[in-house]
Amino acid sequence: MIPYGRQDIRQEDIDAVVEVLQSDFITQGPVVPRFEEAVASKVGARYGVAVNSGTSALHVACLALGLGPGNRLWTSPITFVASANCAIYCGAQVDFVDIDPVTYNLSPEALEKKLSDADEKSCLPDIVVPVHLCGQSCEMKRIHELSQSYGFKVIEDASHALGGRYRDFPVGCCRYSDITVFSFHPVKIITTAEGGMAVTNDAALAGKMQLLRSHGITRDPELMTHAADGPWYYQQIDLGYNYRMTDIQAALGISQLNRLDEYVTRRHEIAERYDRLLSDLLVTVPLQHPDAYSSWHLYVIRLQLGAITKSHREVFESMRESDIGVNLHYIPVHTQPWYERMGFKKGDYPEAEQYYAEAISLPMYPTMTDEQQDQVVDALRGAVVG
Ligand SMILES: *Cc1c(COP(=O)(O)O)cnc(C)c1O
Repeated sequence: MIPYGRQDIRQEDIDAVVEVLQSDFITQGPVVPRFEEAVASKVGARYGVAVNSGTSALHVACLALGLGPGNRLWTSPITFVASANCAIYCGAQVDFVDIDPVTYNLSPEALEKKLSDADEKSCLPDIVVPVHLCGQSCEMKRIHELSQSYGFKVIEDASHALGGRYRDFPVGCCRYSDITVFSFHPVKIITTAEGGMAVTNDAALAGKMQLLRSHGITRDPELMTHAADGPWYYQQIDLGYNYRMTDIQAALGISQLNRLDEYVTRRHEIAERYDRLLSDLLVTVPLQHPDAYSSWHLYVIRLQLGAITKSHREVFESMRESDIGVNLHYIPVHTQPWYERMGFKKGDYPEAEQYYAEAISLPMYPTMTDEQQDQVVDALRGAVVG
């Protein structure tokens, strides 16, 4: 089976991990802050806060921005459930903004319209989470302008987009957002097995997220309510979690980060080759916004169902039968049973649902060979035409 994505682990990664295993600290030691500095510096942000998953990063980002009961978070329905669940963890409400039919990212036009409606009903969002689907940045400048007019905070869910750029700035520099979140799950651009990071330029937000990832406990005398009882002393000054990343994971992350540019370059080659090889098939290849340089986490095609005789499901099943590990990113979150129980229903976000009816993620990972890619294209040709 050619998978839709997979990690690339080399000897240098293994050596870096073994070195930590043989050191004094294996959980939180000196390597986590080194990884934080390395990622922050790579993406042009001042602070990085490493945690045990992208989901935890979203959670602490929401809490740091003050999201709580009575508040609202809006995101795209075409995302992994975690982009919405993070609001529920905080006791807040979720709502969705339909996608742009061309980029499949949260539509700035739909956002503007929904904001103007919400303004009249006094139910504006407190946080908007644009998701850089497939590694292509959302139109952050427009979203940022709307955040200034309507007074909401912005968390970029850049789980797919490490190594991507927007208007010539690296995704993660937070020029148009408060916090940007990355995931280091094995299918993502670089991996720490499980892991994530929130980056920001705001020292107070970074400090708050550091506190929340480790039980709300501090050893910083400046933050304590009174002088330390002794050298053993620490204080819990907030309610946090155990969301810590380990030094083992951070060592893997630093080693992987060294190859970020190489990975993104290779992903671009694969995407351009797909564009060429698929040009005569009745599929829509992913269109790129001129302001975005994608990290190409995913290569999603859409079937032109009116023009072919096969159904979406038939093409998908035929690919899987040919041992091509195609996938579908994503099932619209608002149609998940848990969200339906909150009152969302099919029909709420037509562009997202249309996308779901046509989309297929083709295999895309930096170690994929041209031969494997040819196999994918042959299988797709057979599935669509045959
Ligand atoms: C992977 C992913 C997450 C969650 O990251 P984890 O590290 O798996 O917790 C959140 N949002 C999006 C869009 C993702 O793809």
